[in-house]
Amino acid sequence: MAVCDICGNDYDRAMTITIDGTDTRGVFDSFECAIHALAPSCTHCGCRVIGHGVEVDGAIFCCAHCAQHVGAQGVSDHSDNDPGQADRPESVGSQPGKAFS
Ligand SMILES: [Zn+2]
Ligand SMILES: [Zn+2]
Repeated sequence: MAVCDICGNDYDRAMTITIDGTDTRGVFDSFECAIHALAPSCTHCGCRVIGHGVEVDGAIFCCAHCAQHVGAQGVSDHSDNDPGQADRPESVGSQPGKAFS
């Protein structure tokens, strides 16, 4: 039995998450609570990054589209690298459609 750090639920299948290289550690009853506590926010649009995301100069973005908004070069969500497709966000686990610019 363990108590969730976020909601306080006492759950017999709680999970403990640690992040290597930091003191960050948490006990959670659900992925939702873990994301609330640990997932970084996109530097550009602010959505939670729960996929792999994109890291540029220490800043984390939900997708290459957001990274490009702050001038990052050479990042792409697409293997074909077609510039005409660059404005179509496509990223696992994020909500790029909600980006406001
Ligand atoms: Zn919880
Ligand atoms: Zn974003």
